[in-house]
Amino acid sequence: MTLGNLRDLYQQVILERYKKPKHKGVTHPVHRQQRGHNPSCGDTIEITIQLSESGDRIEDVKFEGEGCAIAMASADLMAEALRGKATDEALSMVQRFQNMMQGNGDFPIEQRKLNVMQGVSQFPVRIKCATLTWHTLKAALEAPTLAKPEAFVSNE
Ligand code: ZN
Repeated sequence: MTLGNLRDLYQQVILERYKKPKHKGVTHPVHRQQRGHNPSCGDTIEITIQLSESGDRIEDVKFEGEGCAIAMASADLMAEALRGKATDEALSMVQRFQNMMQGNGDFPIEQRKLNVMQGVSQFPVRIKCATLTWHTLKAALEAPTLAKPEAFVSNE
């Protein structure tokens, strides 16, 4: 497969997720909630998380938001990858994603779907679009309790 074809494939997955997201909505119940904003593109996102009873595992993640295809596809792929993950594992995945955007490494085979975002690292102005959802998730997980809905994080 040539590099050109590979790039087309990535683009196709991103557009598919943008048009038909699988994890859009709000979790029931909401244990953590965080809004995020990427001023450089105008993307906004709201992440909701349902935690396990012990609070150390993610039962479900959903997102609402508006923005470009990269931001929305990234949120949908992230939500899928994080279901059932321990919260500390989720936080290490945030770091791994940020590293991947800097061109350092990628995800192992069980989470390889996230690697479709790897192509974004070649377009520095779009990196914030891809990382917004992870940045917002991190803030949600690190909050000790449910944040006030009007609070939001910015990745600027
Ligand atoms: Zn964007």
